[in-house]
Amino acid sequence: MFGAINFEKQSVFPYVYWGLRAQNHRGHQSHGFLTFNEEKFHVYRNLDLVPKLKTSALHEWFERLPGHIGIGNIRYTTSGKCDDVSIIQGTQPVLASMGNLMIALSFNGNIVNTFQLKREIVDNFQDFVCSCDSDLLCHKLLLEFEKGKDLTAAVGACMQSVDGAFSVVGITGTGDFFAFKDPHGIKPLCAGRSQDGGTFAFSSETVSLDINNFTRDFELEPGELVTVSEKGFKRTQIISNPRRAFCAFEYAYFSRPDSRFNGKYVYEIREDFGRNIVHEYPEIAKDADVVLSVPETGDDPAMGVHEESGLRWERASRRHRYVTERAFILLNQERFNTIDRKVNILGPKVDGKRVILTEDSIVRGDTTKVVIEKIRKAGAKKVYMFVTFPRIIGPCFYGIDMATYGQLIGSKHSPDEIARIIGADAVCFQSIDGLVRATGQTKDELCLACITGKYPTPLAQEIADEMKQKFLKGYEEKSRIYEQQEDSQ
Ligand code: SF4
Repeated sequence: MFGAINFEKQSVFPYVYWGLRAQNHRGHQSHGFLTFNEEKFHVYRNLDLVPKLKTSALHEWFERLPGHIGIGNIRYTTSGKCDDVSIIQGTQPVLASMGNLMIALSFNGNIVNTFQLKREIVDNFQDFVCSCDSDLLCHKLLLEFEKGKDLTAAVGACMQSVDGAFSVVGITGTGDFFAFKDPHGIKPLCAGRSQDGGTFAFSSETVSLDINNFTRDFELEPGELVTVSEKGFKRTQIISNPRRAFCAFEYAYFSRPDSRFNGKYVYEIREDFGRNIVHEYPEIAKDADVVLSVPETGDDPAMGVHEESGLRWERASRRHRYVTERAFILLNQERFNTIDRKVNILGPKVDGKRVILTEDSIVRGDTTKVVIEKIRKAGAKKVYMFVTFPRIIGPCFYGIDMATYGQLIGSKHSPDEIARIIGADAVCFQSIDGLVRATGQTKDELCLACITGKYPTPLAQEIADEMKQKFLKGYEEKSRIYEQQEDSQ
């Protein structure tokens, strides 16, 4: 997400555009811009990556999206259907109205109690068709406004009643620009401003402030609402929750390495992950000749492994520059083909060698299996996997696309079994303690649910426990774990 406001009434479209382009790794399926001026909203939404803009068409974009306030969103689907029609319907920012009240939102996260929330919205909005969970949140806010609540009280009501992860930037029909985070602070959201202080912005990651040459002011606190006026940011702590739960997967995989959290660059933390694994598996580190990294999120840990072990870091894999599809979000057969086509191995760098391959995580295992096959084909004698994110044993309810036990290789297999399945000589997962230490946070400040089975929100825990029992008895999940309640009605 990205949002910006300018107090000299200048267009913010360029900031929002670059803010989204810099974060396209967070979602590839759709993108959208929404701007506000003279009490009107202007919206553009489409499928796929944020497009390149032709210079000759710039004036059309400025005309289409005028305004001194704007928000944008890039998305991949973690709720609702995944066909093109559903994806376009679920494209954000969303806009909702009730009488004279209007509100627009851009949302990062995932709502767990969608089913209950939908019932409340349907009871109050005739003809409501839910396209995604951000739509529900948008209508929930409207409902609270309609009851006479102001923005602070309406956001407070959402924080009390919505189970899940939600970092939000939004604009009201009267031109209030705001942002808030759920009481656990699961998804990132930071605030910053332009060098001249005339433009204020919110962004999921700091890279989008950097690319706009903005300074970062602060990361929003869990349960905090921030509004912006000409005087600057106004911060209101709506709910103080002693249990924070920032997504640990942001550090290992999701965020860009040049983003910062808690004063540290993500790449520095990933290098520390690599150092940790060398200490945790010294015998395997001694038995290797070289360290390789595939794909890019393995590069920073590979540097850490190289520095700590003294092993040569070989750049033995090269990516096709224009095959940009992310294997993580494609369908099974597509994923296999895409990886095979986008990664090429330089034979002389691995032939006859014992190789450590660094990887950010193993979710299904099929991507890693293809890479290992290719490395073996190029002549590697041994392939050891160093995986920075500990073994994933449970689904994510909060906006990362791993939403069933069945799809997770780690939910039913030990590291040794995983090694056999993917064709590695050993799979060495970083320990949970090592991961936590490197982030500079404590276990009580992080969400570690998918690697510990302890979920920070109550409904997620309840569903996860119930489904795990069924799964262990052989039940086959037919949809995302948090959507099965709805499917069964
Ligand atoms: S369950 Fe895992 S992926 Fe999901 S928010 Fe928690 S740490 Fe992140």
